[in-house]
Amino acid sequence: TKPDDHPVQNGQSLRSPICCIMGHVDTGKTKLLDCIRGTNVQEGEAGGITQQIGATYFPAENIRERTKELKADAKLNVPGLLVIDTPGHESFTNLRSRGSGLCDLAILVVDIMHGLEPQTIESLNLLKMRNTDFIVALNKVDRLYGWKTCRNAPIGKAIRQQSKDVMNEFNRRLTEIITQFKEQGLNTELYYKNKEMGETYNIVPTSAISGEGIPDLLLLLVQWAQKTMVKRLTYSEDVQCTVLEVKVVEGHGTTIDVVLVNGVLHEGDQIVVCGMQGPVATTIRALLTPHPMRELRVKGTYLHHKEIKAAQGIKIAAQGLEHTIAGTSLYVVGPRDDVEEIKEAAMEDVNSVMSRIDKSGEGVYVQASTLGSLEALLEFLKTPAVNIPVSAISIGPVHKKDVMKASVMLEKKKEYGTILAFDVKAYIDNLKEEKKREAAEEAVFPCILQIMPNCVFNKKDPIVLGVDVVDGIAKVGTPICIPQKEFIDIGRIASIENNHKPVDYAKKGQKVAIKIIGSNPEEQQKMFGRHFEMEDQLVSKISRKSLDALKENYADDLSTEEKRLLFKLKKLFQIL
Ligand code: GDP
Repeated sequence: TKPDDHPVQNGQSLRSPICCIMGHVDTGKTKLLDCIRGTNVQEGEAGGITQQIGATYFPAENIRERTKELKADAKLNVPGLLVIDTPGHESFTNLRSRGSGLCDLAILVVDIMHGLEPQTIESLNLLKMRNTDFIVALNKVDRLYGWKTCRNAPIGKAIRQQSKDVMNEFNRRLTEIITQFKEQGLNTELYYKNKEMGETYNIVPTSAISGEGIPDLLLLLVQWAQKTMVKRLTYSEDVQCTVLEVKVVEGHGTTIDVVLVNGVLHEGDQIVVCGMQGPVATTIRALLTPHPMRELRVKGTYLHHKEIKAAQGIKIAAQGLEHTIAGTSLYVVGPRDDVEEIKEAAMEDVNSVMSRIDKSGEGVYVQASTLGSLEALLEFLKTPAVNIPVSAISIGPVHKKDVMKASVMLEKKKEYGTILAFDVKAYIDNLKEEKKREAAEEAVFPCILQIMPNCVFNKKDPIVLGVDVVDGIAKVGTPICIPQKEFIDIGRIASIENNHKPVDYAKKGQKVAIKIIGSNPEEQQKMFGRHFEMEDQLVSKISRKSLDALKENYADDLSTEEKRLLFKLKKLFQIL
């Protein structure tokens, strides 16, 4: 690739600031990233925006072009902006570099309709812990009632187009949110009214759907970074590089995805990484980035580089990377360096986390998927309100040896004979299953059933019918109504029989017998022949609430066809 041409400021060249996106679920983090990437605007992936490993790079030229309406005369001294592709806590806690935060800046997304939510506050705490500066994107302004779209316009211009009512609503919500931040001990203000930058955090209203405020956000990020972080952003030859993820890639074996914050990496460089069983010294076999042209981006094909300069997201292939711990630093061994010293340095990340365990040897066993999440968990356990001592730690899935180690505590101090595992695969899966079971009552799968001729076995209490599943999936528990008869409720599917065998569900095309019991025991059940007839279709009774429960917990279980039906039913039931 073409190395960044590093512009010079006061005789020093700056590297690109690294930014990540944080915030509560559904505030629009992913959408905002898409929007600033420009993947949803007509021009496509234009203006030199490049997809890297785990990050997207925006050259200064692109930012200048997109912000020209703001008439910012300030010069851009950084080569560009690197935005990390995975928003959220998990990636942020892992974005660490020699003990401190890897991100220079963050965007904290807040939904203007919801204000501060639990994960907004968690994000704030993480940002504080890592000393990371942030800008608040007050997103979804287009949802203000009556908002007039001004596609990709600077926010000032967009706001001037709005009616008085919209303005009042905007101001009311803004004031409320500023108060909520104050309750968290933070001063915030609309960025163009902010006279105390540095003490008062900036708010930029945005819409990730129609692009209002995105130019402001981009410009502010870059200007803020180059104004307040010159020292931090000064390019240095000293390699500073963090492992984000460890992945097996066909044809390359185990690879590591890294962010190169400073310096240059070369093919053939001798490197040292921090491994679960100690330091690993190896040689870079390949430096890889995704193919620059979207249409050529086939899974598993990468561009090879002889060398790569910071800041960049890169995939590194080398031998022996299997046990690398995500969230640790990568070191390059120079010609005059002592490998043993570097190995020691490489283990420092883990050792510094290790040093937090209780010296008394009494405490719980803590396990997490990455060093970053482990560190965050230890931090949490140390807070006065929690205050749980930790005797040992481990990274990765829980194995028998971990259980053995943890059980030693049973003899010392029984109450600490516990493993606290965070983001460990099995644990998350259990949790999801549990949530699914809880949501089963609420979530309604879509189906349309047609009564078959001569198959009315019982007219009411319970209704027993032979039906043809015309579309979707009929499940035990599904509430049924008759849209043709003003959506009257005839009850819930209590059981299904296929060829005289009970089953939990029946799919499109199957012919089955169903038993429907009244949903309200206090009321007489509606009756076949009186409230509904042969030709009336039986349809799952859906609501906003049931749709949300279904989407949240069963999105992966729905086929495309079922999703399509759901969409049709949504219209039929006039759910907004
Ligand atoms: P995340 O969980 O924070 O990554 O949120 P997403 O980016 O997935 O967005 C959640 C939902 O909000 C999606 O349905 C988006 O289409 C929607 N959304 C995101 N940003 C906006 C916005 O600015 N305006 C509106 N109206 N909807 C948005």
